Amino acid sequence: MAKISINIKEGKVDKVSDIIVGIDLGTTNSLVAYIKDGKALAVTSKNGKSTLVPSIIHFDNDGGIIVGTEARDKLISDPQNTIYSVKRLMGKSYGDLENFDRYFGYKIIDEDNDSLVKIRVGDKFYTPIELSAEILKVLKLRIEKDLGEKINKAVITVPAYFNDSQRQATRDAGKLAGLDVLRIVNEPTAASLAYGIGLSPDENRTIAVYDLGGGTFDISVLQIQNGIFEVLSTNGDTFLGGDDFDRAIIDFWIKENNLDSNILNQNKELAQIIRLEAEHAKKSLTNNDNFSSSINDLHLNITKIQFEEITNSLVQRTLDCCRNVISDAKISVEEIDHIVMVGGSTRIPQVQNAVTTFFGKSLFNDLNPDEVVALGAAIQADVLAGNQKDILLLDVTPLSLGIETVGGLMDTIIPRNSKVPNKVGRQYTTSVDGQKNLKVAVYQGERDLVNDNRKLGEFILKGIPPMPAGLPKIEIQFILNADGILKVKAKELRSNVETEIEIKSQYGISEEEMAKILIDSIQNAEADMKIRGLLEARNEANNILLSSDKFLIQNEEILSIEEKTQTKLLIENLRNSTKEEDKDAINKAMDDLNIFTSPLAHRAMDVNIQKAMKGKKV
Ligand code: ADP
Ligand code: MG
Repeated sequence: MAKISINIKEGKVDKVSDIIVGIDLGTTNSLVAYIKDGKALAVTSKNGKSTLVPSIIHFDNDGGIIVGTEARDKLISDPQNTIYSVKRLMGKSYGDLENFDRYFGYKIIDEDNDSLVKIRVGDKFYTPIELSAEILKVLKLRIEKDLGEKINKAVITVPAYFNDSQRQATRDAGKLAGLDVLRIVNEPTAASLAYGIGLSPDENRTIAVYDLGGGTFDISVLQIQNGIFEVLSTNGDTFLGGDDFDRAIIDFWIKENNLDSNILNQNKELAQIIRLEAEHAKKSLTNNDNFSSSINDLHLNITKIQFEEITNSLVQRTLDCCRNVISDAKISVEEIDHIVMVGGSTRIPQVQNAVTTFFGKSLFNDLNPDEVVALGAAIQADVLAGNQKDILLLDVTPLSLGIETVGGLMDTIIPRNSKVPNKVGRQYTTSVDGQKNLKVAVYQGERDLVNDNRKLGEFILKGIPPMPAGLPKIEIQFILNADGILKVKAKELRSNVETEIEIKSQYGISEEEMAKILIDSIQNAEADMKIRGLLEARNEANNILLSSDKFLIQNEEILSIEEKTQTKLLIENLRNSTKEEDKDAINKAMDDLNIFTSPLAHRAMDVNIQKAMKGKKV
């Protein structure tokens, strides 16, 4: 049933459509699609020319914003105020980007390594979420014009390797654009749906989705069984795409014209003109054997054979990723039934040939490779709208998820490439007698030390009843929902004390929210440091208590009665201090015990050495 809402400002009644739209929010191009008369259809612009909206945003001096083709033209005339590739920044902190910020022609703000990147345009700051929302708003308007109805529900696709922050950021962008994002779907899953693969319930298939876009390459292996889609593995290169093919042509022309390669660094405008001409040449070589043009006195010629020579290494790099994805999926090439081609750059004949040879099979490439993902998203949206029989979609987690354990080690709970949704529990215990609190810090990544991985969040399980170290049974549960969003629960099983958090992106939408998060993190930092200091002191105290107890037993005969009494007193004192929340008191009690016992320990050692010597023939 369509809902009717009243637009108070204009006093007219807006019909809100039942349709859930599918959106491919791409690095280079974005588009929107929906199901019309049972068929997926990508929506074109007013003049009906193209379904693609370049993912480019331009800001003029009066705060006006344009998105798409017109914004792309500003790349040449006004690069500082023209934002592209914003998808690369979604859910990223500046620390994540340190090594590649020079890639961008606009300003990325370095506030603090752990906070969200922001983009500076003039004297304003924008988050990648806000910028993506601008693209989504244009897509929303486009389809509303086409349908003559308002829409407010969408499915948005993301790369299979997107982590939790990146998925959440995409969801937030949708919200900001006035869309209720019902599902975040992996791009390869959408692509296979577009080809109708897996739509019949008794179909068993293993497929590879080869996606070569403008700036990125992704390869995924999916297994489809009884209408269930499961991503077995993903691989790729976030800096390999159509842009690299353009760059190869530019380098070729620089050589052919005997130009100083610095000239393009010095003349940004010329650089952009040549870049666009190179892309033009690349596209034209799809259907022609040579390309020739000129700008001023530069001759810009290239043959198809020359183009294939200079880009062969790029194509080979994609095949290396294909090899890896297959070995990660623990299958052989022969087991792959279908290869689905996605992304504008898969139109390049050399790419098609290389992929066909590699897999030894013909390709699924009948659909427009620019549109496949959006069309599949529209099909998924239609399924969610209840218009198609239920297809269950299972996706994969691209990075391992785990918690920090003693010594800053990563303990993986859900390994990478596990199915989503997923639920895994594991038991832990305390390392200190009487430990009341347990910090659960959640990380994502593949390194052994949590410091090298990405922290997703943390919480403290409070109120564990005092028990000797090792006795509490603390179950930590990781629950990943179908969107890849994680909930973590901790429960002490003897006492039923429990707590949980939903791991949301640290990167909110509004400035207020952002400010609150920053303030919270500063406030918590102090509390965290206190807790850490206390836990560390307790840890150390516990070790000392253990060795002191042993020392008393082992050196029964060496110590005088007074020495024993005093040592026992100091041990008791230390033990009591660990039950309080005062780090300084614990440290003081440790010092007192140490100072008193260290001369005793020396004496005991001397005696023990002499004993040992006696037994030996020298
Ligand atoms: P993304 O997924 O990154 O948004 P797309 O799938 O839209 O990217 O692919 C854009 C890329 O496809 C661009 O690099 C563009 O030059 C390239 N492309 C489009 N058409 C052709 C063609 N006929 N031949 C070669 N490359 C093409
Ligand atoms: Mg794409």
